[in-house]
Amino acid sequence: MNEHTLSMRLERVAAQVPVGARLADIGSDHGYLPVALVRRGVIAVALAGEVALTPYQAAKRTVRDNGLEPQISVRRANGLAAIRPEDAITAVSLCGMGGETIRDILDSGNAHLSGQERLILQPNGGEQPLRQWLMDNGYCILYEEVLRENRFDYEIIVAERAEAVQYSAEQLFFGPLQMQVRSPAFLGKWQRRLRQKQQTLAGFAQARQAVPARKVQELTQQVRWIAELLEQA
Ligand code: SAM
Repeated sequence: MNEHTLSMRLERVAAQVPVGARLADIGSDHGYLPVALVRRGVIAVALAGEVALTPYQAAKRTVRDNGLEPQISVRRANGLAAIRPEDAITAVSLCGMGGETIRDILDSGNAHLSGQERLILQPNGGEQPLRQWLMDNGYCILYEEVLRENRFDYEIIVAERAEAVQYSAEQLFFGPLQMQVRSPAFLGKWQRRLRQKQQTLAGFAQARQAVPARKVQELTQQVRWIAELLEQA
């Protein structure tokens, strides 16, 4: 993967960035996403934010090597603190981090958002708490996708501020739109998860030390939800 050839995961994220958006890619690492989008002419300006020195330097290098310094600012900052009001950002991508980390970045940096931005999120796990944060903060999920690459299941969640939306506990767990669309990648992910969770439950039953009842209940409920989801025609 590089700024010319994105991974399928980042390619699917790129497809959710509106033409002409002013993108802030937070946790950009190598900066491949904003550089690829500007090179392709999808967007004209972008910001790459990075908290860690080595990836920050990598993003600087990718931008410089592509001659895109006038179009792409690279800033070393924690989360959304990379965004300044004058950037007039219209889309924020947060990709390749745990869902809880993405949630915490959104939560602690909320003051840097105008509320008009499209959020393009690609959590690696922790989707449920991330969706919970979106709902609690007035965001509506506009698009969701599950994809499998290199034996990993990835999710993409696109959200914008809208009228208050209420999602059920199951919708927060599976994704409200994915539950409707039931793509082969989505069903495949949950078939694998069901097997893993059933094995974990069986392990709990044989464990020498008692597993907290709440943990067993939570997992039992998840197994029931997944089994019901997969049983539906
Ligand atoms: N977004 C790229 C992608 O999806 O391929 C890179 C993902 S990389 C696994 C996660 C990056 O997020 C790391 O470079 C890490 O330094 C950065 N990161 C983690 N927490 C961050 C924070 N609070 N603010 C900015 N960057 C952060």
